Amino acid sequence: MNKMSFQIAIDGPAGAGKSTIARKVAKQKGFIYVDTGAMYRAMAYYLLSKKVSPKDAQAIEENCQNADITICYEEGEQVVLLNGENVNGVIRSEAVGNMASASSPNPKVRERLTLLQKELAKTNNVVMDGRDIGTCVLPDADVKIYLTASSKVRAKRRFDELSAKGISCDIEQIEADIIKRDEQDMTRKVAPLKQAEDAVLLDSSHMTVDEVAGAILDLCEKREKGKEL
Ligand code: C5P
Repeated sequence: MNKMSFQIAIDGPAGAGKSTIARKVAKQKGFIYVDTGAMYRAMAYYLLSKKVSPKDAQAIEENCQNADITICYEEGEQVVLLNGENVNGVIRSEAVGNMASASSPNPKVRERLTLLQKELAKTNNVVMDGRDIGTCVLPDADVKIYLTASSKVRAKRRFDELSAKGISCDIEQIEADIIKRDEQDMTRKVAPLKQAEDAVLLDSSHMTVDEVAGAILDLCEKREKGKEL
Protein backbone atom coordinates (compact mmCIF):
# COMPACT_ATOMS: atom_id res chain seq x y z
CA MET A 1 0.00 0.00 0.00
CA ASN A 2 1.31 3.46 -0.89
CA LYS A 3 1.78 5.68 2.10
CA MET A 4 -0.18 8.90 2.31
CA SER A 5 2.26 11.05 4.25
CA PHE A 6 5.71 12.53 3.65
CA GLN A 7 8.14 11.17 6.23
CA ILE A 8 11.54 12.51 7.27
CA ALA A 9 13.50 10.21 9.61
CA ILE A 10 16.46 11.55 11.58
CA ASP A 11 18.55 9.13 13.62
CA GLY A 12 21.82 9.55 15.42
CA PRO A 13 23.67 9.37 18.74
CA ALA A 14 22.92 11.39 21.88
CA GLY A 15 23.43 15.12 21.63
CA ALA A 16 23.98 15.26 17.86
CA GLY A 17 21.42 18.09 17.61
CA LYS A 18 18.62 15.95 16.22
CA SER A 19 15.78 17.69 18.06
CA THR A 20 16.94 21.24 17.24
CA ILE A 21 17.30 20.35 13.57
CA ALA A 22 14.12 18.28 13.39
CA ARG A 23 12.07 21.05 15.00
CA LYS A 24 13.44 23.59 12.52
CA VAL A 25 12.84 21.40 9.48
CA ALA A 26 9.31 20.56 10.69
CA LYS A 27 8.48 24.25 11.11
CA GLN A 28 9.80 25.07 7.66
CA LYS A 29 7.82 22.27 6.04
CA GLY A 30 4.65 22.68 8.15
CA PHE A 31 5.00 19.06 9.36
CA ILE A 32 4.58 17.75 12.89
CA TYR A 33 7.74 16.99 14.82
CA VAL A 34 7.76 13.69 16.71
CA ASP A 35 10.49 13.44 19.34
CA THR A 36 10.55 9.69 20.05
CA GLY A 37 13.33 10.07 22.65
CA ALA A 38 10.85 12.02 24.78
CA MET A 39 8.53 8.99 24.75
CA TYR A 40 11.34 6.69 25.97
CA ARG A 41 12.19 9.33 28.56
CA ALA A 42 8.57 9.46 29.77
CA MET A 43 8.63 5.69 30.15
CA ALA A 44 11.95 5.93 32.04
CA TYR A 45 10.51 8.63 34.29
CA TYR A 46 7.62 6.32 35.13
CA LEU A 47 9.98 3.41 35.88
CA LEU A 48 12.16 5.62 38.10
CA SER A 49 9.07 6.80 39.98
CA LYS A 50 8.24 3.13 40.63
CA LYS A 51 11.82 2.57 41.87
CA VAL A 52 12.47 -0.03 39.16
CA SER A 53 16.14 -0.95 38.79
CA PRO A 54 17.61 -0.36 35.29
CA LYS A 55 19.08 -3.88 35.56
CA ASP A 56 15.76 -5.62 36.34
CA ALA A 57 14.37 -6.56 32.89
CA GLN A 58 11.36 -8.37 34.35
CA ALA A 59 10.31 -5.41 36.50
CA ILE A 60 10.73 -3.09 33.48
CA GLU A 61 8.54 -5.37 31.39
CA GLU A 62 5.83 -5.64 34.08
CA ASN A 63 5.77 -1.95 35.01
CA CYS A 64 5.84 -0.58 31.47
CA GLN A 65 2.37 -2.03 30.87
CA ASN A 66 0.95 0.50 33.35
CA ALA A 67 2.47 3.53 31.66
CA ASP A 68 0.09 5.01 29.13
CA ILE A 69 2.14 7.36 26.95
CA THR A 70 0.54 9.61 24.36
CA ILE A 71 1.42 12.90 22.75
CA CYS A 72 -0.48 16.00 21.79
CA TYR A 73 0.51 19.38 20.38
CA GLU A 74 0.21 22.77 22.06
CA GLU A 75 1.12 25.71 19.83
CA GLY A 76 3.06 23.34 17.58
CA GLU A 77 5.13 21.91 20.45
CA GLN A 78 4.96 18.22 21.31
CA VAL A 79 3.59 17.54 24.79
CA VAL A 80 4.19 14.06 26.23
CA LEU A 81 1.44 12.77 28.46
CA LEU A 82 2.19 10.02 30.96
CA ASN A 83 -1.06 8.57 32.30
CA GLY A 84 -2.69 11.85 31.31
CA GLU A 85 -0.11 14.14 32.92
CA ASN A 86 2.20 16.51 31.03
CA VAL A 87 5.77 15.35 31.81
CA ASN A 88 7.68 17.64 29.41
CA GLY A 89 9.25 19.53 32.32
CA VAL A 90 10.67 16.51 34.17
CA ILE A 91 12.16 14.20 31.52
CA ARG A 92 15.24 16.12 30.40
CA SER A 93 17.64 15.22 33.22
CA GLU A 94 20.71 13.01 32.69
CA ALA A 95 19.27 10.49 35.18
CA VAL A 96 16.11 10.09 33.08
CA GLY A 97 18.21 9.90 29.87
CA ASN A 98 20.37 7.16 31.34
CA MET A 99 17.32 5.20 32.54
CA ALA A 100 15.77 5.64 29.06
CA SER A 101 18.86 4.10 27.50
CA ALA A 102 18.81 1.22 30.02
CA SER A 103 15.09 0.46 29.60
CA SER A 104 14.69 1.08 25.85
CA PRO A 105 16.19 -2.31 24.80
CA ASN A 106 13.23 -4.03 26.44
CA PRO A 107 11.04 -5.45 23.63
CA LYS A 108 7.79 -4.68 25.50
CA VAL A 109 8.80 -1.02 25.94
CA ARG A 110 9.71 -0.76 22.26
CA GLU A 111 6.58 -2.52 21.08
CA ARG A 112 4.31 -0.04 22.86
CA LEU A 113 6.14 3.09 21.74
CA THR A 114 6.87 1.98 18.17
CA LEU A 115 3.19 1.32 17.55
CA LEU A 116 2.29 4.84 18.61
CA GLN A 117 5.05 6.31 16.40
CA LYS A 118 3.93 4.36 13.32
CA GLU A 119 0.32 5.47 13.86
CA LEU A 120 1.35 9.13 14.04
CA ALA A 121 3.29 8.90 10.78
CA LYS A 122 0.48 7.15 8.95
CA THR A 123 -1.83 10.14 9.02
CA ASN A 124 0.54 13.10 9.39
CA ASN A 125 3.48 14.49 7.45
CA VAL A 126 6.27 14.06 9.98
CA VAL A 127 9.81 14.79 10.94
CA MET A 128 10.58 12.03 13.45
CA ASP A 129 13.86 11.69 15.31
CA GLY A 130 15.30 8.88 17.41
CA ARG A 131 17.60 5.89 17.10
CA ASP A 132 15.67 3.38 14.98
CA ILE A 133 13.37 5.55 12.86
CA GLY A 134 14.96 4.93 9.46
CA THR A 135 15.72 1.28 10.23
CA CYS A 136 12.60 0.06 12.08
CA VAL A 137 9.82 2.58 12.67
CA LEU A 138 9.61 4.19 9.20
CA PRO A 139 11.58 1.92 6.85
CA ASP A 140 9.88 3.59 3.84
CA ALA A 141 10.61 7.18 4.93
CA ASP A 142 11.07 9.58 2.00
CA VAL A 143 14.21 11.16 3.46
CA LYS A 144 16.48 9.42 5.96
CA ILE A 145 19.26 11.22 7.75
CA TYR A 146 21.95 9.86 10.06
CA LEU A 147 23.06 12.90 12.03
CA THR A 148 26.24 12.66 14.05
CA ALA A 149 29.07 14.76 15.53
CA SER A 150 32.19 13.95 17.54
CA SER A 151 31.62 13.07 21.20
CA LYS A 152 33.68 16.14 22.23
CA VAL A 153 31.47 18.49 20.23
CA ARG A 154 28.31 16.81 21.51
CA ALA A 155 29.48 17.05 25.14
CA LYS A 156 30.38 20.73 24.69
CA ARG A 157 26.92 21.51 23.26
CA ARG A 158 25.22 19.75 26.17
CA PHE A 159 27.52 21.51 28.65
CA ASP A 160 26.68 24.93 27.14
CA GLU A 161 22.96 24.12 27.20
CA LEU A 162 23.02 23.13 30.90
CA SER A 163 25.31 26.03 31.88
CA ALA A 164 22.96 28.48 30.16
CA LYS A 165 20.19 27.15 32.41
CA GLY A 166 22.43 27.76 35.45
CA ILE A 167 22.96 24.02 36.05
CA SER A 168 26.53 23.27 37.12
CA CYS A 169 28.05 20.23 35.42
CA ASP A 170 31.29 18.53 34.49
CA ILE A 171 32.05 18.36 30.77
CA GLU A 172 34.17 15.21 31.10
CA GLN A 173 31.38 13.43 32.95
CA ILE A 174 28.92 14.50 30.24
CA GLU A 175 31.19 13.10 27.52
CA ALA A 176 31.64 9.83 29.46
CA ASP A 177 27.82 9.52 29.83
CA ILE A 178 27.32 10.22 26.11
CA ILE A 179 29.85 7.57 25.12
CA LYS A 180 28.29 5.01 27.49
CA ARG A 181 24.78 5.76 26.22
CA ASP A 182 25.87 5.45 22.55
CA GLU A 183 27.55 2.13 23.31
CA GLN A 184 24.33 0.82 24.93
CA ASP A 185 22.15 2.10 22.10
CA MET A 186 24.42 0.71 19.36
CA THR A 187 25.02 -2.75 20.81
CA ARG A 188 21.54 -3.70 22.01
CA LYS A 189 19.87 -6.65 20.28
CA VAL A 190 16.55 -4.96 19.52
CA ALA A 191 16.52 -1.97 17.15
CA PRO A 192 20.12 -0.84 17.73
CA LEU A 193 21.24 2.62 16.67
CA LYS A 194 22.80 2.34 13.22
CA GLN A 195 22.77 4.17 9.94
CA ALA A 196 20.09 2.81 7.59
CA GLU A 197 21.55 1.68 4.27
CA ASP A 198 19.63 4.37 2.43
CA ALA A 199 20.27 7.16 4.97
CA VAL A 200 22.35 10.23 4.15
CA LEU A 201 25.16 10.79 6.66
CA LEU A 202 25.52 14.34 8.00
CA ASP A 203 28.35 15.14 10.43
CA SER A 204 27.39 18.37 12.18
CA SER A 205 30.69 18.78 14.09
CA HIS A 206 31.62 21.75 11.94
CA MET A 207 28.21 22.79 10.63
CA THR A 208 25.77 25.37 11.95
CA VAL A 209 22.15 24.51 12.70
CA ASP A 210 21.06 26.44 9.59
CA GLU A 211 23.54 24.56 7.40
CA VAL A 212 22.32 21.16 8.60
CA ALA A 213 18.64 22.14 8.29
CA GLY A 214 19.34 23.59 4.83
CA ALA A 215 21.00 20.35 3.71
CA ILE A 216 17.95 18.35 4.83
CA LEU A 217 15.52 20.73 3.14
CA ASP A 218 17.53 20.38 -0.09
CA LEU A 219 17.23 16.60 0.16
CA CYS A 220 13.47 16.92 0.67
CA GLU A 221 13.19 19.08 -2.42
CA LYS A 222 15.11 16.52 -4.46
CA ARG A 223 12.83 13.78 -3.18
CA GLU A 224 9.69 15.77 -3.91
CA LYS A 225 10.93 16.03 -7.52
CA GLY A 226 11.19 12.25 -7.54
CA LYS A 227 14.98 12.13 -7.57
CA GLU A 228 17.19 9.57 -5.82
CA LEU A 229 19.18 10.90 -2.87
O1 C5P B 1 17.11 11.19 22.15
P1 C5P B 1 17.09 11.06 23.65
O2 C5P B 1 18.40 11.35 24.31
O3 C5P B 1 15.99 11.84 24.26
O4 C5P B 1 16.76 9.51 23.91
C1 C5P B 1 16.86 8.92 25.19
C2 C5P B 1 17.08 7.40 25.03
O5 C5P B 1 15.90 6.82 24.49
C3 C5P B 1 18.19 7.00 24.05
O6 C5P B 1 19.45 6.94 24.66
C4 C5P B 1 17.73 5.63 23.57
O7 C5P B 1 18.15 4.59 24.43
C5 C5P B 1 16.22 5.71 23.66
N1 C5P B 1 15.62 5.86 22.34
C6 C5P B 1 15.44 4.72 21.59
N2 C5P B 1 14.82 4.79 20.38
C7 C5P B 1 14.39 5.96 19.90
C8 C5P B 1 14.59 7.16 20.64
C9 C5P B 1 15.23 7.07 21.86
O8 C5P B 1 15.83 3.64 21.99
N3 C5P B 1 13.74 5.98 18.73
